[in-house]
Amino acid sequence: MPSNVSLTFCGGVSEVGGNQIFFEDKGYGVKLFLDFGINMVQYANNFEKYEEPTSPEQLTRSYLLPKQSKLPIKNLYSKYFIFNQEEMNYLQKVNECKGKTDPPTDIDGILISHPHRDHYYGIGLVNRNIPIYTGVVTQRIILAYSKASRSVMSNFYEGIKWKLYRTGDIIDIKELKIFPIHVDHSIPAAYGFIIDSSEGLIIYSGDFRMHGPLSNMTQDLIDKAKSLIQLKQKNGEERSNVIDNYPNKIRALICEGTQINRGAIESEQSVGNEVIKLMDKNVYDYYLVKYNRLDWDRFRNFENIAKRYDWKYIITEKDAYFYHLLNDKAIYDTMRDPNILLDDNIYVLLYTYERYPWQTQIREIFEQENKLWRCIDHNDLKEFSNFFLFITHIYRDLLKSLPRGLMGAFISSDIDPYSEEHLDNTKTIRHDLEKEGIPSYRIHASGHAKPHDIVSFIEQINPLNLIPIHTEHPEFFKILFRNYDMTIHLPERYESIIFD
Ligand SMILES: [Zn+2]
Repeated sequence: MPSNVSLTFCGGVSEVGGNQIFFEDKGYGVKLFLDFGINMVQYANNFEKYEEPTSPEQLTRSYLLPKQSKLPIKNLYSKYFIFNQEEMNYLQKVNECKGKTDPPTDIDGILISHPHRDHYYGIGLVNRNIPIYTGVVTQRIILAYSKASRSVMSNFYEGIKWKLYRTGDIIDIKELKIFPIHVDHSIPAAYGFIIDSSEGLIIYSGDFRMHGPLSNMTQDLIDKAKSLIQLKQKNGEERSNVIDNYPNKIRALICEGTQINRGAIESEQSVGNEVIKLMDKNVYDYYLVKYNRLDWDRFRNFENIAKRYDWKYIITEKDAYFYHLLNDKAIYDTMRDPNILLDDNIYVLLYTYERYPWQTQIREIFEQENKLWRCIDHNDLKEFSNFFLFITHIYRDLLKSLPRGLMGAFISSDIDPYSEEHLDNTKTIRHDLEKEGIPSYRIHASGHAKPHDIVSFIEQINPLNLIPIHTEHPEFFKILFRNYDMTIHLPERYESIIFD
């Protein structure tokens, strides 16, 4: 008898990022999406650098977002809340939406695993009757990111029905239960999900690593899976008789495999150690550093080292605004420190022009706190030495302002080349800096689990069915796990996987 649960992969298939998994449980009458991201490399192939789409069709046409016509669903995308930024401004659009209700849909929810755009990009475009489930801090990061970005369609969240969860919560959707459990990744607020379906337990790993400072969190997901299996064994029988034969096993694991075929032995701590080695033999007066803005661990790591050597840490006002939004309500240490307002070692580099409301806002906040002395402009930079300057890209004013009398170096500590931030291009930066006589270093630890960690993760969860996603090498899983007692399914776009 075919299973009542099916999984259809609309993105993240043989590629890194852009996860969009359609989950249907006919036993419980539930339809969900697990993540609703976009593949940043495909996106860059379809759009010019500053070009922004203005309708979902522009994205579904080229398979960047899920195609409704290929799934058993209705009214996936919003009718009234699509923001065409070329036709009106943000406030006009908010006014236009007032009192509007999207048509009914049969989708029960979209679950977002973590706040990287290759996992959540499309949520602003969907029917506002579909609840969007995110972690409490996940939502905070998504909103902070959008506030510090341009007002465009993908950042328009007006009318979204947010449903927030934390580790330990149980999400009930009809009879289906979902256990969200935190995992360690290169960004705070990353989760995996254990779904208690009518066909047994199904796990979605999200993105995870096991070499970061919070690797215990990933272990928590594994332990929770084990304890749920034990509970089922104890209870004796499943609610559905279909899997009576397998009450003691996880039915399926959807597992990320970014680095399944190649790994490095690295950790956040090793990044710190490498930077310290450089500082101990230091010949430079300043360092330009580049890492993913959302990588809070990396930020803290670099900033601590700067402090230790009594060097200043400079970030732009856009980053200051973004970090302040997150500092402000942070419950966890992970995002309370470094603190933009309290830490007098952090300097804020103001842009030459004040164009956006958030610039006024962050400048006012610094003024109120009597911290304006830590706000500097590009001219001041020429007077500085012994500093780290966090950059995401190179712009003309910055190049002109680098202190000519001093010697600097560039440390690239950014995420791996298939992700979003890579698109504004470390290579270009290196090239620009070489012309200025600034050499480059690469010091990095990735946000993704290494081959041996993925093996151990899968061994511990020990599922009946394994589906590799978020990897360019799904077939590698088939060879690597050939001696294991599990069925490995290689997903094909829009072909449903139904377990026997
Ligand atoms: Zn990620």
